[in-house]
Amino acid sequence: MTSYTQSSRLRGVRYDVRGKNMVEAQRMEAAGQRILKLNIGNLAPFGFETPDSVVRSMVAHLPESEGYSDAHGVYSARTAVANYYQSKGLDVDVDQVMLGNGVSELISIVLQSLLNADDEVLIPSPDYPLWTAQTTLCGGRAVHYLADESNGWNPDLEDIASRITPRTKAIVIINPNNPTGAVYSAEIIRGIIDLAREHGLIVLADEIYEKIIYSGNHVYAANLAGDDVLCLTFSGLSKAYRACGFRAGWLVITGPLAAAEDLREGLDLLANMRMCANVPGQHAIQTCLGGHQSIDELVTPGGRFHDQIMLSSRLLNEIEGVSCVPASGALYLFPRLDPERFPIEDDEEWALGLLRHKKILVSHGRGFNWPNPDHFRLVALPEEKVLREALARLAEYCEETRRD
Ligand code: PLP
Repeated sequence: MTSYTQSSRLRGVRYDVRGKNMVEAQRMEAAGQRILKLNIGNLAPFGFETPDSVVRSMVAHLPESEGYSDAHGVYSARTAVANYYQSKGLDVDVDQVMLGNGVSELISIVLQSLLNADDEVLIPSPDYPLWTAQTTLCGGRAVHYLADESNGWNPDLEDIASRITPRTKAIVIINPNNPTGAVYSAEIIRGIIDLAREHGLIVLADEIYEKIIYSGNHVYAANLAGDDVLCLTFSGLSKAYRACGFRAGWLVITGPLAAAEDLREGLDLLANMRMCANVPGQHAIQTCLGGHQSIDELVTPGGRFHDQIMLSSRLLNEIEGVSCVPASGALYLFPRLDPERFPIEDDEEWALGLLRHKKILVSHGRGFNWPNPDHFRLVALPEEKVLREALARLAEYCEETRRD
């Protein structure tokens, strides 16, 4: 009998954060079990809803959203993005902006347009694993550089420098960071840009959490890259505007544009091949960027999410053998399980045990291209009562799996 197999291109592609443990959680839920989900940064289902004004503006634009838009995006929305970055001190014209079905699609378009076989992309470890998966899918090689837990998870510049080869094409910065919650200092970003300048690398700056900051300041990589380093900045509505489902994101290209004409032709080709991004979602962009949409409940002390993520790192640090760098931004914590106390060989199995025995779903650390089985990621979205219950059960599981 004929068997129908996936392409060989997919063989090395991993996306374990939505892998077997999530499927098992779905199975358990279908069987009537209640799972406490601390695994995904999807805000609206946890009561962090898209602001009404944003939903209303999308609804109001529905009658004019029936046709395809320009492949680069609706002009008014692109203008709103350009104006937004101008207000941050960047010299951005509307034709430097491309809209996409979330940052996810734009990552795919950019890497497809950029990479030849075996081209190398420097990506942080741990990372948001789409970067590694897409690089691999495009035939490139993901080369992971170290984020240093002992330095607030900031990238290690020496480690980055040591991994640059003649095949290195680009460096990815995820700031604020998923999964570590780090917000990079200007000094670190400047150090990365200097390396990019010295070696002719493109900077790919994933700044989707730019507004979700608890301490420190967000520094736009493009502002430091200036005129001579090509910088592609990615952001969108999913997180600060709590609109993951609208699939609205943008890409802004800055730096030596004349030298990037060929690459931009490639981006145009791919943008045209998929017609356009979801048009109703694009219409929400101008309302989001043009007005004030409060995110106090996310980032301000007393705000529900702010307090939940601070509480979570405190409670994690109270568990023997567990340590957790508090988040400075984004939605995540990436706690460490002391390998002396937790002799874990397979962290996905450890997380599966947590799911089966305690009904808690977290993502195992190696799913984020972290090399060792000694971390996991926690998303502090469920309300405080649920979080406390989840962290109490996690503490029990740690006690059961810990070596004394
Ligand atoms: N980049 C990072 C760092 C993310 O954490 C996510 C989603 O969690 C994305 C990109 C994808 O965002 P979008 O919903 O815009 O596709």
